[in-house]
Amino acid sequence: METAIDLEAEKKEIIKAYRHLLRNAKRHQAKGDLQLIRKAFDLALEAHKDMRRKSGEPYIYHPLAVAEIVTAEIGLGAKSIVCALLHDVVEDTHITLEDIRGMFGDKVASIIDGLTKISGVFDQTSATSSLQAENFRKMLLTLSSDVRVILIKIADRLHNMRTLDSMARDKQLKIASETLYLYAPLAHRLGLYTIKTEMEDLALKYTEPEIYESISQKLKETQRARQRFINKFSFPIMASLTQAGLEFDIKGRTKSIYSIYKKMKKQEIPFEEVYDLFAIRIILDSKPENEKSDCWRAYSIVTDHYVPNPERMRDWISTPKSNGYESLHTTVMSKTGQWVEVQIRTKRMDEIAEKGLAAHWKYKDTTGNENALEEWIVKIREVLENPDPNALDFIDDFKLNLFAEEIFVFTPKGELRTLPSGATSLDFAFDVHSEVGMRCIGAKINNKLMPLSYKLKSGDQVEVLTSSKQYPKEDWLNFVVTGKAKSKIKQALKDEKRQLAEEGKEILDRKLRNLKIKTDNNTVNRIVKYYKVMSPLDLYYRIAKKNIELNDLREATEDPNKKSWLGYFKRLIPGTKEKEEKTPQLENLVADLNGKPAQLLIGDNMEKLDYTLSKCCNPIPGDDVFGFITINEGIKIHRVNCPNAVQLLSKHAYRVVKAKWTSKESIAFLAGLKITGIDEVGIVNNITKVISNELHVNMRSISFDGHDGTFEGTVMVYVHDTQHLNNLVNNLKKVKGVHTVTRMDAN
Ligand code: MN
Repeated sequence: METAIDLEAEKKEIIKAYRHLLRNAKRHQAKGDLQLIRKAFDLALEAHKDMRRKSGEPYIYHPLAVAEIVTAEIGLGAKSIVCALLHDVVEDTHITLEDIRGMFGDKVASIIDGLTKISGVFDQTSATSSLQAENFRKMLLTLSSDVRVILIKIADRLHNMRTLDSMARDKQLKIASETLYLYAPLAHRLGLYTIKTEMEDLALKYTEPEIYESISQKLKETQRARQRFINKFSFPIMASLTQAGLEFDIKGRTKSIYSIYKKMKKQEIPFEEVYDLFAIRIILDSKPENEKSDCWRAYSIVTDHYVPNPERMRDWISTPKSNGYESLHTTVMSKTGQWVEVQIRTKRMDEIAEKGLAAHWKYKDTTGNENALEEWIVKIREVLENPDPNALDFIDDFKLNLFAEEIFVFTPKGELRTLPSGATSLDFAFDVHSEVGMRCIGAKINNKLMPLSYKLKSGDQVEVLTSSKQYPKEDWLNFVVTGKAKSKIKQALKDEKRQLAEEGKEILDRKLRNLKIKTDNNTVNRIVKYYKVMSPLDLYYRIAKKNIELNDLREATEDPNKKSWLGYFKRLIPGTKEKEEKTPQLENLVADLNGKPAQLLIGDNMEKLDYTLSKCCNPIPGDDVFGFITINEGIKIHRVNCPNAVQLLSKHAYRVVKAKWTSKESIAFLAGLKITGIDEVGIVNNITKVISNELHVNMRSISFDGHDGTFEGTVMVYVHDTQHLNNLVNNLKKVKGVHTVTRMDAN
């Protein structure tokens, strides 16, 4: 009866977790709330009772943990806890949405409905990419009616990331990539800084385990020295702050592993050269009316002791970021010659910075700034309500808006407007009103006439100039960056295209009539194929624009299946007919692979599957890789850390196949190395000598650039696998004068 004992112990554990949740929840609750939570817990426990997670533990742990995040880490109340406990019930069990409505009312039911829909899209690999985008759109529409849907979804994703260990490798990669691509930016946009940071770190842990390990190891090793430095640096500031009668807390905040990694990658530097591994944070305990002046007093004290860098001063107290972030940032020179970032803020500002939104609600009575989120939702809605059939564009536009830093500009009347950085005068015009954008011919920036494409800077005053004769142009899309401007321009262009297409269709119909060829769908489709255009609409449009002359219309409408000698020769031309017939076959093969848990074994399936190694990251045996199904070029093998991987894995997950190297092939693979160092006499010679001495390494190309006593070189070599390459790298590092040797393309 061993299992029975286990179950008893499990039951105790579950009750313990539930009690813990209640303790956290208590702070916010009114009387009836606890009963409501109890009711939700009982229902979830019963509904999930026969289910287990991949890790083997009872399923109920997951909703309990999500509820705990929702209350303890995001700070939401009873209704959200109820929804978190029930979030997987409708999708995974026999309980229906109507059951929920009957037991908990309309509000809870509508939130659960939103959550069920989202997980239907995101947590299924079989969905096509356009479906994902379309549903992402719907998800955000739901969000605009109740923001709790997205907050609970973020908590759900965070817990899945925390428990990613028990998933299969390809699932880990998909979930981690998607988190980096969608959820972390979303959390950031909502001001959930702590959660965003944890998501990014966890995603890195699974996509780049070695890098993650090495950075966290190095952080540990340097921890004590860092603390000593921080104490020494802070001491004089603390003394002066106390003397000035300010209540405060001061601490060193170490950068997240992911942001250190990003910095190393962007600046191509090793860990040791990242100078801003930490920031000093001063948190003031101020009365509401003294917040701003206290922060500036602290700033003045800091800069009395250390010289500030005039270019690194940020004042987000006078103009907070639109996600609500408020803080003063300055970077000062320490006594040891190191730049140190100092962040100054009050307790309230700190809580908003860490927990975001929920803290906003808590403080909204005192600040009056609770509109920021509402404004954001209104903007998202404007983009969403535009009926754009190409939903993928929307994700890209949306993503751009999420990632962008912001600039602040003014109308001629001095009204402040927030735009993403990189926004142009035209974006501003569309931000004012879409009709103003459509008719915009230029703008006066600080009273000087500037073109539509002028990139705005914070502080610019913008006056839009319009003309009733103006209408949107195709090339406008090259310089607008806001989602609103893009979708409005595309819509206008599409309307114009549709009008022209009608004229084109008339021209084609007339010509076909003259040639006495029957006009039906078949004929049109043949013409579309013949001229290699995308769709009938595209065909008509090009005809109207006179891009297509229609001289060989008779040939174009011929039945390609007829065994005429013309068709026969056509099939012999590579790249025309051949390819089209190959694609479905390939897809079948892959569907097969998806159906069974089999995976693409590179090296074995040589004849069966048509695969190539992608040029963007040059994978070699030994690399962690995946296969990606392309439309025309078969399966392409990418490295997991390829710069394009995150996008491919998250946007087109259904086209990804697992891949693994099997037998070592005797052929050689191309890999690129980047070498930097001191430009000593004979260095190029020494490097080539090492390469040619290395067993079986062949060099394809080498190029070196020297400047001011340093050099940077690129070497392309043929190697057998990662071990072969690593040997070479290690030997190159031993050459006198060589500073760094790194693999190119993917780092
Ligand atoms: Mn879940």
